[in-house]
Amino acid sequence: MLVILSGVSGAGKDTIKKEIMKRMENIITLPSFTSRTRRKNEQEGVQYYFISKSQFEEKIKKGDFYEFDLHHGNYYGTSRELLNNKIKQGKIIVKDIEVNGTENLVKLLQRDTKIVTIFIRVEKEELKRRLIERGDNIQDIEIRLNRLEYEESKINLYDYVIKNDEFEKTVQIIMTIIENEKRIEDNT
Ligand code: 5GP
Repeated sequence: MLVILSGVSGAGKDTIKKEIMKRMENIITLPSFTSRTRRKNEQEGVQYYFISKSQFEEKIKKGDFYEFDLHHGNYYGTSRELLNNKIKQGKIIVKDIEVNGTENLVKLLQRDTKIVTIFIRVEKEELKRRLIERGDNIQDIEIRLNRLEYEESKINLYDYVIKNDEFEKTVQIIMTIIENEKRIEDNT
């Protein structure tokens, strides 16, 4: 089962994902490839594999990605090989992907793989506060704030929409969704 978490950058997806992985068994995540530069707190191969734009374009040509998207001026993509390997392990994969990538992955994989999509919402002012706190520069903050409207316009594509105004509540709701969806998968 693949659980996709979407929502603008700064909505809290990564922190939620980490918390769920701590509390639930049988959950793994999947690093993406990106051409953006690594942030201070990020390690190679955990959230992302960091490669250059030209290396990314080379991988596109070779067909290495299930989906990729160019946003915030950088490429982001889901590796076919990495995802296939993780699906074979039979675990629950939690992955954060923006709206275009989610739409593409659902189209490509839904016949063979159970996919649950969750959109995490956050108010614009709260988002701004979090991005400043995270240490993003002014330009990056502008780009991410401008993206909010676009991502929200795709909300109808999602199985679940959750407002992340209280971290603990959000984590509890998502854990309940995962447990219920897993039960449904195991009984169908
Ligand atoms: P950030 O630069 O803040 O880490 O991420 C920017 C956006 O890229 C986030 O909305 C995140 O969900 C999205 N993203 C991360 N990995 C992928 C991926 O493999 N494919 C696509 N399409 N988007 C991704």
